[in-house]
Amino acid sequence: MALSASLGFPRMGARRELKRAIEAYWGKSISREALFAQTADLRKTRWLLQRDSGVDLIPSNDFSLYDHVLDTAVMVGAIPARFGWTGGDVDLDTYFAMARGGQVPAMEMTKWFDTNYHYIVPEFTSDQAFQLTSTKPLDEFREAQALGIQTVPVILGPITFLLLGKTKGADFNPLDLLPKLLPVYETLLQQLAEAGAKWVQLDEPCLALDRTEEELAIYQEVYTRLVNHTVLSISLTTYFAGLGNHLTAALNLPVSALHLDLVRAPEQVEQLLSLPQWPQDKYLSLGVIDGRNVWKNDLNYSLALLQRVAAWGAASDRIIVSPSCSLLHVPWDLDTEKALDAEVKDWLAFAKQKLAEMEILKTAVNDGVENVQTALDDNRAAVERRRTSTRIHNRLVNERLAGLTEDAYTRTSPFAARKSVQQARLQLKPFPTTTIGSFPQTKEVRKARADFRSGAQTKEQYEAFLRSKTEECVRLQESLGLDVLVHGEFERTDMVEYFGEQMDGFIFTKNGWVQSYGTRCVKPPIIYGDVSRPESMTVTWSSYAQSLSKRPMKGMLTGPVTILQWSFVRDDQPRETTCRQIALAIRDEVVDLEAAGIPIIQIDEPALREGLPLHRGEWEAYLKWAVDCFKLAASGVQDETQIHTHMCYAEFNDIMPAIQSMDADVISIETSRSDMELLDAFQQFSYQNDIGPGVYDIHSPRVPTVDEMVFLLEKTVDRLDPSQLWVNPDCGLKTRNEEETVKALEAMVEAANIARARY
Ligand code: GLN
Ligand code: ZN
Repeated sequence: MALSASLGFPRMGARRELKRAIEAYWGKSISREALFAQTADLRKTRWLLQRDSGVDLIPSNDFSLYDHVLDTAVMVGAIPARFGWTGGDVDLDTYFAMARGGQVPAMEMTKWFDTNYHYIVPEFTSDQAFQLTSTKPLDEFREAQALGIQTVPVILGPITFLLLGKTKGADFNPLDLLPKLLPVYETLLQQLAEAGAKWVQLDEPCLALDRTEEELAIYQEVYTRLVNHTVLSISLTTYFAGLGNHLTAALNLPVSALHLDLVRAPEQVEQLLSLPQWPQDKYLSLGVIDGRNVWKNDLNYSLALLQRVAAWGAASDRIIVSPSCSLLHVPWDLDTEKALDAEVKDWLAFAKQKLAEMEILKTAVNDGVENVQTALDDNRAAVERRRTSTRIHNRLVNERLAGLTEDAYTRTSPFAARKSVQQARLQLKPFPTTTIGSFPQTKEVRKARADFRSGAQTKEQYEAFLRSKTEECVRLQESLGLDVLVHGEFERTDMVEYFGEQMDGFIFTKNGWVQSYGTRCVKPPIIYGDVSRPESMTVTWSSYAQSLSKRPMKGMLTGPVTILQWSFVRDDQPRETTCRQIALAIRDEVVDLEAAGIPIIQIDEPALREGLPLHRGEWEAYLKWAVDCFKLAASGVQDETQIHTHMCYAEFNDIMPAIQSMDADVISIETSRSDMELLDAFQQFSYQNDIGPGVYDIHSPRVPTVDEMVFLLEKTVDRLDPSQLWVNPDCGLKTRNEEETVKALEAMVEAANIARARY
């Protein structure tokens, strides 16, 4: 019989119960015991839901109070010395301190592959010791067992765990630690087997990335060893990318099951079918349901694929039907979306609905199509309704895209010529000062917005409030002596949502939360159709702000790649096409801002780098269209309109040619935390355009001193020509309070004045 597996389920609960429980614990309003009781309820709900949906391989230990990579670090005793751990069980407060900091700095956090989920980065020293310090996988297995549910413990595989970490002190290959780490995994597997587990799922997403021959040999060695040490059946999961030319190496691993992501890398099916025979005794877990997106599966298509693979191997009993990856990355339950547009809702499936899809597919494989004919027919009809919906297709958008010529992607004159006409218009001092856009989103601002949404404030009242905040912000910037002003972004909750709400082709859910990090969730917009902009989106606010001051006002937009990257994107056309449509909408806005007399327009692209494909071989193609989209958005204006862009957290070394070809007049970047070292890339590349390296870290409440910023400016001048430089904070100020902001900006303006006198 074919089996089904869910690989992992969302943790938060249908109403983000986990967030509430943990935050209550942090706020000391519930006890440790209460937290445990509430999370046990949630785990139970998740297991029952999966059992009742017919899932055969139900995961345990996919749950976490913060992050599964942190759980793994804690489990193997990789607890950095600064947390003062002396052995034994790691208590809950130490665990949270590792994630969030306390007396000592937290561990670093970074994005989990190309998702918007962030994991805690393990830290390894060259004399790193490991020991099994936690019974979490065992406890959860038993907890489910007590409910009469046999689960598959999910453990982050040892190789991926090490590869995701960073080395501290000495520079060494983290894989050198394997001989010390593996005994811990062996003990764990043994304990799980003794407790009655049959299967264990070892997640090895790193196997699907670019790997050297040597690393592949390590995989072979490690999994041979683990398999020899355990009676458990090991299911090894890869996801987010295809195995490419190491598919055969992966199939040769002596594990019982191998999971393939067939949504991201459907070509793996042909690769499989070209093999001489079914990999001996192995289960193949075929990830046909998209674990990264919210669309209803085309079940007839998936079934045909499953049947082809089964027929090739004469092996329908060796198939596991599964999502492409853990369902962690999709929202919990579509049924809770009572207010969602019914037509679009019919096209969607969240985690719970995906379990039902799996069950239909599994039944069709095992018992024959006739047993699920109605479900398959209904699904075919829904897929067809979506495909032919007039809501999706906008002829004008596509005609416009098709009609674009090369000149839509380039500014009229080269940078040097633009720079002089812009300077003639703007008359900026050297080292011009500015900010990245948002000003503090205080309690007052959030309350006004909540009141407006709940109806407690009228639109007129709310807008009057926003105008007064904007005016206050403009006056503040004038009195601080900033050169290029912003309106403060008080009208925006979120830099993607604000635009998505005003464009056609987007829809928003009420409960479509996905975990971003810890208790923090995001609710990505869903792009379901051709994107266009019926009316201007920001002109009113920017013009109002400009009307208050003689100083140049900078209009503030989110770039097409960032809007794409932070949304659930339609899967019926290439992401690139959707991105170009968004770029056209943003272009229209840029042109409208220019026409309204706004002399400077910033198009934020903080997510440009995170969109890079996991395989390096695909980088070039991605960067080509991503940069094209930025240029399409930016190039509709005259030479004298200055285009800025902003990027955060970026490592620029390997993408400098792309950054240069964006040809923004000014780019502001986050550099202060790296002591301006990030600028080396710009120096080595001889970056031509202007640049505003952030001179202080807005992520910290600490007010920077003038000296510190002068010091950073000196480092900047060492690397770049003073005539290229702008002075600004690292990122938007929305998370800071007003007092910190005023002090920090005062000091920043003073630092700029010192630089002006010096250079
Ligand atoms: N303009 C945005 C702001 O200031 C930019 C935020 C970002 O880059 N993440 O908030
Ligand atoms: Zn930023």
